[in-house]
Amino acid sequence: MLTEIRSLNEECGVFGIWGHENATQISYYGLHALQHRGQEGAGIVATDGKALKALKGEGLVNEVFTQEKLGEMHGHAAIGHVRYATAGGSGIENVQPLLFNSTTGSLAISHNGNLVNATELKGHLERQGSIFQTTSDTEVLAHLIKRSGYETFEEKAKNALSLLKGAFACAILTEEAMYVALDPNGLRPFSLGRLGDAWVVASETCAFDIVGAEFVRSIEPGEFVIINKDGVRAERFAYPEERSICTMEYVYFSRPDSDIDGINVHSARKRLGIQLAKEFPIEADVVTGVPDSSISAAIGYSEASGIPYELGLIKNRYVGRTFIQPSQDLREQGVKMKLSPVRQVVKGKRVIMVDDSIVRGTTSRHIVNLLKEAGATEVHVVISSPPIKSPCFYGIDISTSGELIAANNTIEEMREIIGADSLSFLSVDGMVQNIGRTDPGSKCGHCLACFTGEYPTNIFPTTVLPHEKETVR
Ligand code: SF4
Repeated sequence: MLTEIRSLNEECGVFGIWGHENATQISYYGLHALQHRGQEGAGIVATDGKALKALKGEGLVNEVFTQEKLGEMHGHAAIGHVRYATAGGSGIENVQPLLFNSTTGSLAISHNGNLVNATELKGHLERQGSIFQTTSDTEVLAHLIKRSGYETFEEKAKNALSLLKGAFACAILTEEAMYVALDPNGLRPFSLGRLGDAWVVASETCAFDIVGAEFVRSIEPGEFVIINKDGVRAERFAYPEERSICTMEYVYFSRPDSDIDGINVHSARKRLGIQLAKEFPIEADVVTGVPDSSISAAIGYSEASGIPYELGLIKNRYVGRTFIQPSQDLREQGVKMKLSPVRQVVKGKRVIMVDDSIVRGTTSRHIVNLLKEAGATEVHVVISSPPIKSPCFYGIDISTSGELIAANNTIEEMREIIGADSLSFLSVDGMVQNIGRTDPGSKCGHCLACFTGEYPTNIFPTTVLPHEKETVR
């Protein structure tokens, strides 16, 4: 995935484990598998039942955690996080899990997703005396838990979660238990697994495979799962709303070896490619995919069309995060360094280039250019999702429609801007039907907001809190 240079970034990855003597080490491996979801920071908080201890830093998982440091983190339970800064900006203070020590009990939180009412809640809490240490919207949850007037931690946490709006898949750790919650629309994927006698949770099932855990089930929207020495207990903090999982998880974010609610991501992408070939048959000599996230769809297009799939583009895996560049010129240089055309494959050929999405158009324009410079006679761009026209408020960094090429141009204008011979986008129906979810409702369980502008939640909610002088209860 070209996460650093295409302005469409994963929001974060969460991992948690309870009941294993090597909880910290296993969390490290779990986070490694989730690295594609965030490369700006990583952290683990572990507990031995007496205290919570944090190890975190900016950078990749293998930069933050050395074996020596991990060896000092003992405990039977841990939660971890990899971060891409969608809300709150970068900086070590925003790297999760956020750890809060207090004489009334410590807690740590790992959160994936964005709250749409974080600013409003923060305002309420600050007027009640809260002082925030970070600019992360996740800290709001800790304050709501601590200020809740309920008696037990479970009640406090459920009450606090019920006040949040937007996308959140959370793991909360205390000395006594690990708590797991998913927002009522289930905007983010979140799974529960088993590793021997231990319980694990992860944003993606690829993390289970790497630690040798078995998938048990998906966490349900509105669910609050308590994992402690007595086992696992499932409760609710909210009634589930219509399921609205982020469609881009299937199209682009998740690893191809992950399953989301029983649907394998690679297989779903391949079906999208097959559907593309049905919707847009094109005469060409080779099909190629933009590595890595578009290869599955390219294979599908090739199979359905009978046009051979070839490795027309190679990704340079050793271009690091230094290519998160603020200016257009430098981003373009980043594209050049990150991808190379295979001249022998594309020279003198009519090429179908499959990609998963177009955000600004910068990347597409340069890939088309790379292929043409390498001798492709025609470059037909087919996209395995519909045009992205609206911002995402749930944790993906497409925050303004001004930067979205599809929000401001027709498809023909976009084709001209990126310099392709043709440009085609998969239909919304074609995408939804071929991912294969069967949830009730017209959207079959998907959030489609960035394609259709129809948001599954109120994006400007008014959160009803008690009188500001009263305790949040
Ligand atoms: S708006 Fe788009 S990117 Fe954001 S959660 Fe919905 S489908 Fe995913």
